Amino acid sequence: TALELIRNFSIIAHIDHGKSTLADRLIQACGGLSDREMKEQVLDSMDIERERGITIKAQTVRLQYKASDGVTYTLNLMDTPGHVDFAYEVSRSLAACEGSLLVVDASQGVEAQTLANVYQALDAHHEIVPVLNKIDLPAAEPERIKTQIEDVIGIDASDAVMISAKTGLGIGDVLEALVKRLPPPTGDETAPLKALLIDSWYDAYLGVVILVRVRDGILKTGAKIKLMSTGAVYQVDRVGAFTPKATTIGELGPGEVGFITAGIKAVADCAVGDTITEEKRPAAAPLAGFKPSVPVVFCGLFPADAAEFEHLRESLQKLRLNDASFQFEAESSAALGFGFRCGFLGLLHLEIIQERLEREFNLDLVTTAPSVVYKVVLTNGEEMELHNPADMPDVVRIEEIQEPWIKATIMVPDEHLGAILALCQERRGIQIDLTYAGNRAMAVYRLPLNEVVFDFYDRLKSVSRGYASFDYALDGYEPGDLVLLNILVNAEPVDALALIVHRSQADRRGRALCEKLKDLIPPQMFQIAIQAAIGGRIIARETVRAMRKDVLSKCYGGDISRKRKLLEKQKEGKKRMRQFGKVEIPQSAFLAALKTG
Ligand code: GDP
Ligand code: MG
Repeated sequence: TALELIRNFSIIAHIDHGKSTLADRLIQACGGLSDREMKEQVLDSMDIERERGITIKAQTVRLQYKASDGVTYTLNLMDTPGHVDFAYEVSRSLAACEGSLLVVDASQGVEAQTLANVYQALDAHHEIVPVLNKIDLPAAEPERIKTQIEDVIGIDASDAVMISAKTGLGIGDVLEALVKRLPPPTGDETAPLKALLIDSWYDAYLGVVILVRVRDGILKTGAKIKLMSTGAVYQVDRVGAFTPKATTIGELGPGEVGFITAGIKAVADCAVGDTITEEKRPAAAPLAGFKPSVPVVFCGLFPADAAEFEHLRESLQKLRLNDASFQFEAESSAALGFGFRCGFLGLLHLEIIQERLEREFNLDLVTTAPSVVYKVVLTNGEEMELHNPADMPDVVRIEEIQEPWIKATIMVPDEHLGAILALCQERRGIQIDLTYAGNRAMAVYRLPLNEVVFDFYDRLKSVSRGYASFDYALDGYEPGDLVLLNILVNAEPVDALALIVHRSQADRRGRALCEKLKDLIPPQMFQIAIQAAIGGRIIARETVRAMRKDVLSKCYGGDISRKRKLLEKQKEGKKRMRQFGKVEIPQSAFLAALKTG
């Protein structure tokens, strides 16, 4: 396809502003699918994406659009995920396009992720077309939101496109704006092949599929390609595009986006951001790649039933085929036995993986409290990364502990600002900026990531009645007064309950955790002491009194089937318990460690 007939674009928006619905309408308008094939939100293909209404994997679709000038254009739409955990997926999609549709809900206005995404698009030198969605709603205030976009973002919104993705109103105007206002891609067909590896995943029918954007040269079926970072060579056996069905097309030229398969075995061999070139005439230098994703939150995943360990390993391997951003390695815990230490992009990512393991692989899991990655400088000058609180070196060997910080942008209606500021303060936040746009405030804070991973997002939502929006980016490491908080059950430390906390929070966290555990550990034949300790110093203590009766005493003489039921229930409960020393700790206790802010 001639370059001037191609438009590559992303849709960026805050979550729920209507990005997926708009994508569906565009696909429909361009005849990509028949009405029968058109089910709602075709791009959100995973079950969990549909249920939670979020887009996890960025997807791409090639559309043919006959414009009002009578010319047919090829439009490549890159859908992007809206949640902060998946910011890296946004950046990789943006790197493959020349422009963005900026979708803003005309009844809500600019939110934290609207801003974050726009800044990423501007960094990628995108032309931006503002689109005001949901103008069918009585609460829509398009004129006010236009002014807000200009005030807050600083881009011209005077010719924003007004649409309702739900009713289809204005979809034609969006398509015209795409071809008239976005620039076509540039590239040289005769130069050596240079293609950006945007994404890769494992498909049960196609094997490893690589999504590419060609810059220069031509990518053909049968060509021997080379991945520039590793030097690995493969022969391309299929070239195609998603229309949105996978369709074979033979070759991809400059400016085009599509997929290839090349007999590659593992997604891990296809580093996102890598440059693909041709073996016999390689490009002189790779494209400037983009930042690879790095896991920022780690936790332990253990099978509730120890016999399921191998099954868990296989399941993790299968998931990783599709999601190279998640990591795992075997670990063992005195309390939980054999399991895996896993790294995630954020808490939502953690929840999604956990949910997929339980749902798709039928596993019953015990999850330990998530922990951020600390850097520990030892007295002998060595530096180590700490993924697991249980691996904390002895205090006498530690020179300094550094923790990751984030820069957070929070947007909130005026009346809830006080509560938000108090929350940030309580979490050791440092205010960087506070500005107003209409009746919304925008607060920029630096916060330790450690204070955010547990329940910050939930608390933010609850203190603002759901009106605050939040976005963050990592912002370096800083030394902190951090201590290892151990939980002792009958004087023995339970490794899976250990936490790293700021000294100023240690008392509160220790007390809260002991109280919670007291309620969660059922009485046993003897008294149980639950203590929180920093080093040798006990900072909190609770006691679970010894049990008086056994479960059957309640129904002596009674009905035998009821007795059997009680015994079975007790047995079932046992499976979900962890024997620790002489004490049995239920699975729910480990999860509870998460929820004590
Ligand atoms: P995304 O998170 O940005 O992908 O948003 P979705 O496309 O999933 O839309 C979020 C919600 O807004 C869904 O319930 C949609 O049905 C609804 N929605 C999307 N566009 C419109 C619109 O133009 N008008 C109205 N009334 N609702 C819309
Ligand atoms: Mg969506």
